[in-house]
Amino acid sequence: MRPARALIDLDALRHNYRLARSRHGGRALAVVKANAYGHGAVACARALAPEVDGFAVAFLEEALELREAGIEQPILLLEGIFAADELDEVVRHDLWMVVHHAEQIRIIDHAKPALPLDVWLKVNSGMNRAGFMPHELRAAWQRLKDNGRVGSITLMTHFARADEPHVLSTPEQVAAFDSATRDLPGPRSLANSGAILGWPDAHRDWARPGILLYGADPMPGEPHGLRPVMTLESAIMAIREIPAGAPLGYGARFRAERATRVGLVAMGYADGYPRTVPDGTPVAVDGIRTRLIGRVSMDMLTVDLTDLPDAKLGSRVELWGNNVPVNRIAAAANTISYELLCNVKRVRLEYT
Ligand code: PLP
Repeated sequence: MRPARALIDLDALRHNYRLARSRHGGRALAVVKANAYGHGAVACARALAPEVDGFAVAFLEEALELREAGIEQPILLLEGIFAADELDEVVRHDLWMVVHHAEQIRIIDHAKPALPLDVWLKVNSGMNRAGFMPHELRAAWQRLKDNGRVGSITLMTHFARADEPHVLSTPEQVAAFDSATRDLPGPRSLANSGAILGWPDAHRDWARPGILLYGADPMPGEPHGLRPVMTLESAIMAIREIPAGAPLGYGARFRAERATRVGLVAMGYADGYPRTVPDGTPVAVDGIRTRLIGRVSMDMLTVDLTDLPDAKLGSRVELWGNNVPVNRIAAAANTISYELLCNVKRVRLEYT
C-alpha cells in the first residue's frame, strides 16, 4: 500500500476546540466547511459532537452530509442559500442560515417557509466582501422580522485582518459593527480564530473558530497552546547517491553541491503538497529535520539524506505535522495553511 497518508489526531481537535471556547467564553460553532479544512468533516464533527455548541459549513450540501451522518447539533450555512428550493431543505433539516444579501431576504419572503427560521444576519463592518452595509442593516432586519417566519436573528460580521495583531482594522470593524447594530436586539457573533486568540474586545455570544481547531495558529510565533491535528506523511521508497554537480529532478533546479544521498518520497503535488516550495524547505525523516531538494513532482518528491545515515527504505517522512509546522510550509509556498490543508487529496485520512 502506498505509504502516503494524513494522520488526523482527534484528541488534538477536541483540545483545540476547548481552548477556543475557554479563550472566548460563550458558545462556539466549530467551522467544518471544506471537508473540515481537509480533515474529514464527518469524522471531525462526530469527534466534537458530544461537546460542541454547533457547526458551521459553507453551503447546503455540506450540511446535508453531516445530517446524513447523524449529526444532530445546530449547523449554520455561512453562505446561506442560493435558491428557493434550498429553503425547504433548510427547514426540513433544521439548519441555521446566514443572510448576507437582499436576494436571500426576497427568497425567504417569497417562499414563506413552514417553520421559523434561525437567521444570522451579516453586517459588512469593513471587509466589503459580504453582508449588509451599516446603513442597510435596519431595513434588512425589519424585513426579516416582518416576514413572520423568522424566529431568532443573530447579528454577525467577519474580520478581514484578525490575524494581524498590530493592525487596527479589527477594532475598527468591531466599532463599525457595534455602531450598526446598536439598537438591534439578539445575540452577536464576531470572532474567527484570529479574533478568538488576539482580540478579546471582539468576544461576544458566539465564536466561529476554523483554522485554530486544526492546530494551525493564525498568528504563528505566539504560544497559544494549539496542537496540530494533521500529520501529512509518507515514506522513503528509494535511495540514490548522486555526485557533486549532478542535477536533480524536473528543470534541474537543484544541483548537488556535494555528493548527495537522495531519498525519494511517495508524495507529490497531486496529493496536495505544494509544487511551489523551494529547495531547502524542511521535512522530517524519522523525526529528524532535513530539507527538500529538487522540484516537487506529481507523485514524488526528493529529500536530502546525506546527513541522515540511519535513514533507510521505509523511513517515515513527515511533510507537515508536529515536527514541521504547516505554517512553515505555507510560508515557503507563498500561501496560507488553510489552502494547504484544504488541498490534501488522494492520500488516506487515518484517525487516531
Ligand atoms: N466565519 C466565517 C464567516 C468564515 O467565512 C470563516 C472562514 O473563512 C470562519 C468564520 C473561520 O475562520 P478561521 O478559519 O480564520 O477561524
